[in-house]
Amino acid sequence: MKPILVSGIQPSGKLHIGNYLGALKNFVDLQNTGRYQCYFTIVDLHSIAEDFDPKEKYKQILDLAADFLAAGLDPKKSTIFLQSHVPAHVELAWILNTITPMGELRRMTQYKEKTTAGGESENVGLFDYPVLMAADILLYDAKYVPVGEDQLQHLELTRTLARKFNSKFGNTFVEPKALLTETPRVMSLGNPEKKMSKSQPETCIFLDDTPEQIRNKVKRAVTDSGSEVRYDPAIKPGISNLLSIYSALSGDPIKKIEAEFAGKNYGYFKAMLAEVVISHFAEFRKKKRSLMAKPNKLRTILIAGSKKAEGGANKKIREVKKKIGLEESR
Ligand code: ADP
Repeated sequence: MKPILVSGIQPSGKLHIGNYLGALKNFVDLQNTGRYQCYFTIVDLHSIAEDFDPKEKYKQILDLAADFLAAGLDPKKSTIFLQSHVPAHVELAWILNTITPMGELRRMTQYKEKTTAGGESENVGLFDYPVLMAADILLYDAKYVPVGEDQLQHLELTRTLARKFNSKFGNTFVEPKALLTETPRVMSLGNPEKKMSKSQPETCIFLDDTPEQIRNKVKRAVTDSGSEVRYDPAIKPGISNLLSIYSALSGDPIKKIEAEFAGKNYGYFKAMLAEVVISHFAEFRKKKRSLMAKPNKLRTILIAGSKKAEGGANKKIREVKKKIGLEESR
């Protein structure tokens, strides 16, 4: 049996190259090695923990399904599904809630970043997000979880909960390991000290951006003092971030890119980077446009994938219920 690999992305707006280089591109590369049994899920239940428009939500789901397929995920090779189609995720999250200390959730960086001081008026879903994420992973006996660096803390909690459940109720869950890419934390174009995040859209490059938008955004990206195109994250965080993006998209090592741009200024490098981004996503944009014209095909893929995911997930949740005495074991 091939090891199981699970990951998910929220349908909460356009994907940026941080999502792509930290997660989605890796999903595709890992799928194509043929070495794993892959599950990729659109985590719609997570996405409703933040402000959203019900009229837009299903469009966002289909849009993300199109992103998955246009980037190269293939329903013949991977199980691609919608989280809310598989109710066992929520059942397991509830059960895991009962062994999760509040303190563990309170110290989560993402929760602290997304809540205002005190957090008293925030919804419980935002607080409980990491437990649902643990359920997403543990339900499938995933050994590997490809994610960006910002999710490592949540994955550590998943491991803690697996260990705790196993020691309390008997061996049930696999402890998953994270798989990071070479670019696990793509930084904001507006502030290279902060990660690229869709909460600041003008500092992101979105996969759907037009060539003109890409040229403008890269041109405006914050760079550092000096003029040498050299990788040095401590002294030159802006240009180093751009070099990482260039390298990840072109496949060239950073040293080779530095040599190529020796003696050239930032402006020239940025113009070339914009062209690398534009050509990398040209095929993606074309495929996505054609997928968006066939929403029924996208719906069918999600329904079929969810049926497949549900088989294993339901077996696991029954095993869990037996372990904790909610079902009789015979
Ligand atoms: P977001 O963090 O933009 O709200 P998600 O939580 O759905 O989006 O994240 C989807 C995936 O993208 C996760 O694996 C996350 O770690 C990764 N990711 C998000 N932002 C970045 C970034 N700036 N650099 C690298 N990976 C990222």
